[in-house]
Amino acid sequence: MNGDMYLAWASNEENRNKADCGGAVTALLKFALESGLVDAVLAIKARDGDRYDGIPVLITDPEEIKDTAGVLHSSSINIPRYLKEYMAGVYNRKLAVVCKPCDARAIIELTKRDVMHLENLLLIGLNCTGTFSPVTAKEMFKEKFGVNPSDVIKEEIEDGKLKIRLKDETEVERDLKVLEEEGYGRRENCRRCEIKIPTMTDIACGRWGNTDEKMTFIEVCSDKGSNLIESAIEAGSIKVEKPNSEAIETRRKQDALAIKLAQEWQEKDFAPFKAMSADERFNYWFSQFSQCIKCFGCRDACPICFCEHCMLEADRGYVSGGEIPPNPLWPMVRVVHVMDSCINCGQCQDACPMELPLAKLIFMLNKEVAPRFDYEPGINVESRAPSATVTDTELTIEDVALFLKKSV
Ligand code: SF4
Ligand code: SF4
Ligand code: SF4
Repeated sequence: MNGDMYLAWASNEENRNKADCGGAVTALLKFALESGLVDAVLAIKARDGDRYDGIPVLITDPEEIKDTAGVLHSSSINIPRYLKEYMAGVYNRKLAVVCKPCDARAIIELTKRDVMHLENLLLIGLNCTGTFSPVTAKEMFKEKFGVNPSDVIKEEIEDGKLKIRLKDETEVERDLKVLEEEGYGRRENCRRCEIKIPTMTDIACGRWGNTDEKMTFIEVCSDKGSNLIESAIEAGSIKVEKPNSEAIETRRKQDALAIKLAQEWQEKDFAPFKAMSADERFNYWFSQFSQCIKCFGCRDACPICFCEHCMLEADRGYVSGGEIPPNPLWPMVRVVHVMDSCINCGQCQDACPMELPLAKLIFMLNKEVAPRFDYEPGINVESRAPSATVTDTELTIEDVALFLKKSV
C-alpha cells in the first residue's frame, strides 16, 4: 500500500545480473506492458549505444524495454515537454512514464492546468542527484578522470563523489565538490536541486538504501504504484524483501547529504546578488537581458510554459512585433510568468544561445515567492499556483520592471 518500501529485483536471474540495481525497474515496466496495465512506456535510451546521446522512446513491445535499462546521467531529456508537445493524441491511452523528480514535478504542474491527465499516466520515478551536459561530461572524463569518454559505462553520484565504471570494470572516483568548483560536474540547476527522491510519482526508485548492488529501493507513493508492485510480485516478475531500519536510515542520510550540498550551492550562487544594491541588481539583469536575441528558445524548452496563445507573440499586442533585439524586459515577462511554478529543470538555460543565467534567476525568484504563498511547485496536484489567480491583463511591462528592481 501507499507508503510501503521494498528492496526489489528482477526475478529473471540473467536480467538481475545484467541490469543496474538488479533490474527491478526494467522488470516492472515490462510487466506493466505485458499485463495491459499500460499501453506504452515512455522512457529514454542511448541512441546507437552512445550514452552521451539519450533520446526519448515510446515502447509498445515489451521486448524493447531492455534497451532503456540503466541510467544516462549525460542526457537531460525534457520528458514533460515531449509528452505535452508530441503526445496529445495518445492521452486516451495509458502510459508509463519514467521520470526524474523535475520531470514529474512539471507533469504535476501541467496536470493542474488541465494540459495533462494523471489518470492516464503511471509515473515511475527515479531518484536523481543530477545530470551532466554531454559536452561537459566528455571533457571532464578526459581531463579530470584521465579516461576515454567512450570507455565509461556507468556514472554514480554518492557520498559527495562522482564514481565512474569503465568497460574493463575498473572504477575511478573524484570529489564532486572539487570538480564543480573547477567548472565541471552537474548542470548548474541540478547542483541547486533539493528534490532528489520523487515521492510525487507513483513509485520512487533508486539505489540509496539497497543492501546489495543488485537491488532497487522502492517507495510506493500512490495506490496506482501499490497496484503495480503487488501485481508484479504476484505474477513473479519481481522479487522483494522489506528493507530494515538501517537501510531506510541510510537512504534518508544520503538524501539529507544531497540536500545539504544543494543548499550550499544555492547560498554560493545567490551570495553575489544579496551583496548588490537594488540598483546594481537591476543593472546586472538589465545588461544580461539586453543580450537576448528573441529566439524563443527558453519559452519553447520550458515544460511548464502552458499558455496556448503566448503573451510574447506580437499579435497579443503586449510587445512590439519585429523588434530585434527586443526590449530587455522581454525575457522578464516570461520569467515573471513562470516563476511561481518553475520546477528548476534548467531547460530554459540550456536552450539559451546567449547563455543567459535564466534558470538561476527564476529559481532565485521562486525561492522568494514560494514561502510567501506557501506553494511548492510540482509536489501536490491539489494546490493551485499563485498565478492561477491572476489574469493576463493585470500585468504590465511597468509592473515587471518594478518587480525586477524590488525583488531580484
Ligand atoms: S533538476 Fe533535480 S531532478 Fe532534475 S535532473 Fe537536475 S537534479 Fe535531477
Ligand atoms: S523556467 Fe526554466 S528552469 Fe523553470 S521550469 Fe521553465 S525551463 Fe525549467
Ligand atoms: S533563449 Fe535566450 S536569447 Fe532566446 S529568447 Fe530566451 S532569453 Fe532570449
